Amino acid sequence: MDAKLRPMFKGCMRGRTMYVIPFSMGPIASPLSKVGIEISDSPYVVVNMKRMTRMGKHVWPRVTTEFVKALHTVGMPLGEGVQDKAWPCNDEKYIVHYPNRNEIWSFGSGYGGNALLGKKCFALRLASTMGREQGWLAEHMLILGVESPKGEKMYVGAAFPSACGKTNFAMMVPPTAFDGWKVTTVGDDIAWIKPAADGKFYAINPESGFFGVAPGTSLQTNPNAVRTIAKNVIFTNVALTEDGDIWWEGLSKTPPEKLTDWTGQAWTPGCGRPAAHPNARFTVGIEQCPSLDEQWDAASGVPLSAMIFGGRRAGLVPLVYEADSWTGGVYLGATLASETTAAAQGATGVVRRDPMAMLPFCGYNMGDYFAHWLSFEGEAGVKLPKIYGVNWFRKDEAGKFIWPGYGDNMRVLKWIFERVMGSGAGVNHALGVSPSYKDLDWSGLESFSEAAFESITTIDSAAWVQEAVSHRESLVKFGERMPEKLLAYNDRLAARVASPVIEGSGATV
Ligand code: GDP
Ligand code: MN
Repeated sequence: MDAKLRPMFKGCMRGRTMYVIPFSMGPIASPLSKVGIEISDSPYVVVNMKRMTRMGKHVWPRVTTEFVKALHTVGMPLGEGVQDKAWPCNDEKYIVHYPNRNEIWSFGSGYGGNALLGKKCFALRLASTMGREQGWLAEHMLILGVESPKGEKMYVGAAFPSACGKTNFAMMVPPTAFDGWKVTTVGDDIAWIKPAADGKFYAINPESGFFGVAPGTSLQTNPNAVRTIAKNVIFTNVALTEDGDIWWEGLSKTPPEKLTDWTGQAWTPGCGRPAAHPNARFTVGIEQCPSLDEQWDAASGVPLSAMIFGGRRAGLVPLVYEADSWTGGVYLGATLASETTAAAQGATGVVRRDPMAMLPFCGYNMGDYFAHWLSFEGEAGVKLPKIYGVNWFRKDEAGKFIWPGYGDNMRVLKWIFERVMGSGAGVNHALGVSPSYKDLDWSGLESFSEAAFESITTIDSAAWVQEAVSHRESLVKFGERMPEKLLAYNDRLAARVASPVIEGSGATV
């Protein structure tokens, strides 16, 4: 890649301003944080990095010999006869990571994950490699706090593949009937997690802002996100109203009569084109979030009591279950899958395995990555978080989501809270432990029947026999370095789901 990239970068910024961007991923004072310097010829990158990271002069004292070198260019030098564009870029694009020398080289694209190099490139791909060497984890996880009316509080990390509701869950507003329960936001996308001297897993959010998908965001779906973006926001590829405001599909039920679409063309309802790009974004500082957790910038990070994995599954996976062990939880994460939705992804309903939501973001061999996760089990003094699987997306025969989701996910979060505190009841089954109907708090949702609950929690034995086979196929794809422990867990799971009578089933534990 050096031989390929060095000539491409030669003169690549001609005629533009070169910006030097010192930034910290994580609280400036935190031992968990890492610093980087991005060199870019894009002012869009500069202003976005200011929102998404701790960026500026105050970072310099932390820049020693050890920092990530992040090189970025839109790859469109100016000169004789070259007219600049509003969105300069190059047809040829390379996003290259060198974990061996902590460098990122990005050529030809100005957008998001390709250009804001602190995010996926640094905070996941390079950081996962650093974490493996240094005994910590860089994960595609939101971090939230949950506090009971009695003032007991715990923190949870949750990994969902993209477009499965991380930002929503991180800013959840509990149902009004859950008076006194509070959900607070530490981060919506990435967590750096390290066991501390007390044995607990402490997590920081390496970022300081949200780079959220705009379409579908509304006061109904994510009120806290809408409140967060009331001011000081960079909007990318949204539509504009006649009076200079912004709009996207889903922001309001009825679209405005006239818009300028994301490409700059005149737009009217029914013209056949989307007004905003389906991947239009808002960039905003986290401190504007109304549900911001008071510990979000703590140098120590926040202790995680539970970790959650979830994807979109129209059937099969129950609403929530607790893994029987750390290995069981790592297995759950390693076999995580989601079904495709957007037209852009081709056919809908195709099951895609996305282990720990990290498939596009892990910086090293996935088999080694699972082994790294497994290595924490049995380490002296380590207090492992409990691990849960969730699925908000089971559908009925008509293709409608059965579970109301969004704020009602609080009912599941409360059950997890009670399990962690040691008071939560549940039922043993082949996959682990789930709540029975009476174990969830239905205040304000009494209309959700026991039968409906059954339909999102039943475990179809025959279908799970197939699923266990599919797990196996996905695991062996990672080759020789796949830990034997996970393959053995697959054998046990296959046997358990095949057995019509499950030991302990129906019993409250
Ligand atoms: P992220 O990419 O993982 O951060 O996902 P977002 O939070 O941006 O949400 C992606 C999509 O999932 C949006 O269209 C949300 O409206 C939808 N979504 C989020 N939470 C839920 C839920 O609990 N139930 C359902 N049915 N949809 C949800
Ligand atoms: Mn998100």
